[in-house]
Amino acid sequence: MHYPLSIGGRQRSVDRRIDVENPATGEIVGSVGSGNRKDAVQAIEAARDVARTWQQSDPHERERALHAVADRIENDVEEIARLLSRETGKCLGTAEDEIRETVSQFRFYAGVTDKIRGSTIPTPTDRFNYTRRAPYGVTAHIVPWNYPVLIGSRSIATALATGNTVVTKPPGSAPLSTMWYGEYLVDEFPDGVVNIVPGPGNEVGAELTENGDVDAISFTGSNRIGQRVIESAAKNIVPADVELGGKSPAIVLPDADPTEAGVGIATGIFSNTGQNCVATSRLIVHEEIKQAVVEEIVRQAESIELGPGTDPSTGMGPVISASAQKDMQAYVEMAKESGATLLTGGTIPNDPDLSDGHFFQPTVFDDVEPDDRIANEEIFGPILSVISVSTVEDAITVANDSRYALAASLWTERLEATTIADRLDHGVVAVNSFPVTMPQSPFGGNKESGIGREGGLEGVRAFTTVDSVIVDHSEMGTGYR
Ligand code: NAD
Ligand code: MN
Repeated sequence: MHYPLSIGGRQRSVDRRIDVENPATGEIVGSVGSGNRKDAVQAIEAARDVARTWQQSDPHERERALHAVADRIENDVEEIARLLSRETGKCLGTAEDEIRETVSQFRFYAGVTDKIRGSTIPTPTDRFNYTRRAPYGVTAHIVPWNYPVLIGSRSIATALATGNTVVTKPPGSAPLSTMWYGEYLVDEFPDGVVNIVPGPGNEVGAELTENGDVDAISFTGSNRIGQRVIESAAKNIVPADVELGGKSPAIVLPDADPTEAGVGIATGIFSNTGQNCVATSRLIVHEEIKQAVVEEIVRQAESIELGPGTDPSTGMGPVISASAQKDMQAYVEMAKESGATLLTGGTIPNDPDLSDGHFFQPTVFDDVEPDDRIANEEIFGPILSVISVSTVEDAITVANDSRYALAASLWTERLEATTIADRLDHGVVAVNSFPVTMPQSPFGGNKESGIGREGGLEGVRAFTTVDSVIVDHSEMGTGYR
């Protein structure tokens, strides 16, 4: 399987290519063309050429195209999920959920196309004031590998629904499933409206954020790169919606059901092998219920079968790379040195069947202090830190004491749940569930977890300006006063 670039509705073959590896087995799954800055510039030009006409397109044309893409992806759910599972290592079930949610996302934004409205504004004079939402023009979309299809399509569907043109760079380690549904996008939309340029982040990604012809940027990824994207956006004075890392707290209060909380939090930290921006990586548990919750999480961790994502019996796949696997080992050493207690996991499994992949055991550390590095840094793997507290106040304080503020969860049967939720300074707060995404729901982080919101109707704001029109109805013709 090989995919070339797609620019202006045409396939472009290039000399360099990226081989995509299955992190569970080391097999080469396929390859994509590896674009450079010049290819990125040409993709931006192609998007620029049609931006004006596309901006004026009939909303129902955009609706039809978005539904057509949804239909075609829906037809292929199993096949795309299989490919996604092979290129990322994630479990088939997780991959299928991702593709199905992607279909819903396209349908949601198909429905949005003819419902983008401004407002009429009362003014004290004879002036009639109304606003309209206008697309920015050319939008760039830079996507991480952990949920490449869901995250890429979230901003792409919103941008297309609102009348923008698109240039996207799929992630280098898992570009194939994007290229698969990308063909449907290129097919269903007029030439030049969607352009797809895989390639190195520091070439193609950098060009997409530095080029003065790009009118708005959507970036999801790490804080290190996100900060550079914001710097480039500042130079060109263009809006950048950036969705960055997390260190999400899960608070469990004494009245919660310990089994439900344990299962939910284990799912929140071990699903997708912990490579979740919203992974429930900090368990902040009241000492009265701690033992029961932690026992359940350890039971869950020890029952998870490691293996390739494509094997139906697998409960957790590998981490994405050998270097991520080394990071896990380093964090385990760090945690031990800081005095945390290893309850389970902590090593690379010694099963010879798994030795070709980048596997790491589901890991739980107890007695973690809020200041410890493992409680503060985004590990992006299956390692849970357990922090004990003795009051609700302390739980809220520890939960909020982080540079990250993406998604918190709160486990309690108390009616005051929403009162506590209101005091959690996080972009998303889930009550009695690990954090989830839904096409209808806004998603994004506070503090250093990002700027802006994608998803839902809020996502429309990331891809449109508000223009204000003021019509003067007063008697004119009296000349200058
Ligand atoms: P990353 O920052 O390494 O890469 C993200 C994208 O940026 C990739 O496509 C990469 O090729 C590109 N890139 C690299 N260098 C670039 C440059 N100089 N200019 C422009 N683009 C460049 O992140 P990753 O490892 O792919 O993803 C993991 C990170 O993403 C984690 O920190 C995770 O929390 C975060 N994430 C956040 C969300 C969210 O919605 N907040 C969702 C998923 C992942
Ligand atoms: Mn890969």
